[in-house]
Amino acid sequence: MKTIQHFVGGKAYSGDSKRTGKIYNPATGDQSAQVKLATTEDVNKAIANAKKAFESWSNTPPLQRARVMFKFKDLIEKNSDELTKIIVSEHGKVYEDAKGSLTRGLEVVEYACGIPQMLKGEFTENVGSNVDSWSIRQPLGVCAGITPFNFPAMVPMWMFPMAIACGNTFVLKPSEKDPSCSIRLAELLKEAGLPDGVFNVVNGDKEAVDALINNSDIAAVSFVGSTPIAKYIYENCAKNEKRVQALGGAKNHCVVMPDCDLDQAVNGLMGAAYGSAGERCMAQSVAVAVGGIGDKLVNELTKKVESLKVGPGMDKQSEMGPLVTKEHLDKVRGYVDIGEKEGAKLVVDGRNFKLQGYENGFFIGGCLFDKVTKNMRIYKEEIFGPVLSVVRAKDFDEALQLVNDHEFGNGVSIFTRDGDSGRTFSNKAKIGMVGINIPIPVPMAFHSFGGWKRSLFGDQHMHGPEGVRFYTKLKTITSRWPSGLRSDPEFVMPTMK
Ligand code: NAD
Repeated sequence: MKTIQHFVGGKAYSGDSKRTGKIYNPATGDQSAQVKLATTEDVNKAIANAKKAFESWSNTPPLQRARVMFKFKDLIEKNSDELTKIIVSEHGKVYEDAKGSLTRGLEVVEYACGIPQMLKGEFTENVGSNVDSWSIRQPLGVCAGITPFNFPAMVPMWMFPMAIACGNTFVLKPSEKDPSCSIRLAELLKEAGLPDGVFNVVNGDKEAVDALINNSDIAAVSFVGSTPIAKYIYENCAKNEKRVQALGGAKNHCVVMPDCDLDQAVNGLMGAAYGSAGERCMAQSVAVAVGGIGDKLVNELTKKVESLKVGPGMDKQSEMGPLVTKEHLDKVRGYVDIGEKEGAKLVVDGRNFKLQGYENGFFIGGCLFDKVTKNMRIYKEEIFGPVLSVVRAKDFDEALQLVNDHEFGNGVSIFTRDGDSGRTFSNKAKIGMVGINIPIPVPMAFHSFGGWKRSLFGDQHMHGPEGVRFYTKLKTITSRWPSGLRSDPEFVMPTMK
């Protein structure tokens, strides 16, 4: 059985732990590997390596750091097929989708290549007579990233390229369900010329996470995962005086207006609800049918959900792969049971989906509920599977109210042909990322990614300009050089006369 190790100080590190986790091939249900689960000592060793590497890396000119990013970008492109296959083998999503997610991560590396420009700072000559002032951004120290299973390449790459380019060193704790991609990225960074110890990976579970958030040498923590854990990370990092950004769960709505292009809305919803088997934080799990469009929308969706091609991620015909683990499959099936009991109308039932030759794979077919109401658990809670709930709303105001009353605020979209509806919606929605006739409004790398309400704890979103702000401290320097004239002591607050 293959054992996945940690990556510390520029090489594989087996650590002290006897504890391991199981890695599965979700398409077959077979265990494919085991992963080491780090002890506190293992994590401390990684942090010590990162702390030592910070001394010289933080003093390395931004242009040289950028050159490592350029080489890393090149290596990701050259190895994209291998990286994509790793994602498919441990996560289960279909090949092209996995490749797309890798590209979205690569785009952050491309953005990080421009770090010298972003760290230029600001200068004002003569803030006072013969006094100059300038602001610079300096790295924080050792930063940690704790990431979820659903994007094993992209989400870590929202974090570490920005952190490293800004001059920090990094310890990544990827999901213990699909850790291999992070290890491969660490090897590629080394090949790109990154000095040993600047980027480290520790595999593990709660013990490793607690070791990171309790270690006083960790300056900042970036977290992405479910809301209860995001809140735990946020609270404990704040208690331990760390900078923190903790992104949580979601329940993204798609508001379908009666005047929309229905084909566009249905196709958008199909990809957004069932792509990656609904295991996306930007998946759309609620369709809000406004006015009289509900029946037509449900009819069109039904045909498409029933004909979804579900199969292994490496099969080119597959539109949707399996779920990540048996436990997760049971959880998603359980939610469909709950929805039925709550009185929602189960229009398409994928619970008993079986695929010949893959009987033990973690597959479920697409599920579609109609007549879902706001008090039901299947509406309130994140299912994180291929289950779409249709809610009926009498008008735009009621639809907007639903969106704004929900505890999560990650993404939302509206399908309409009316500019006023689109503009008013984007203005009034209490949500971090809004799409107008765009089903999954994930911001590009040079903007920033993040939700509102209980989808993000902290102040800064990820990557883009917010990433530079998160991974640097602002310092403002004010200076005067003595001239021939000597002044007397001043006892009052200096102001401009
Ligand atoms: P998760 O919260 O179970 O795990 C995330 C990370 O936290 C993992 O590294 C895991 O090892 C660690 N962890 C789990 N339990 C812990 C505990 N008790 N104490 C300390 N650490 C713990 O999330 P997941 O199931 O891997 O991922 C799915 C979730 O992530 C969904 O809720 C999804 O919406 C969310 N997500 C959010 C975004 C976003 O941008 N907001 C992006 C991707 C995923």
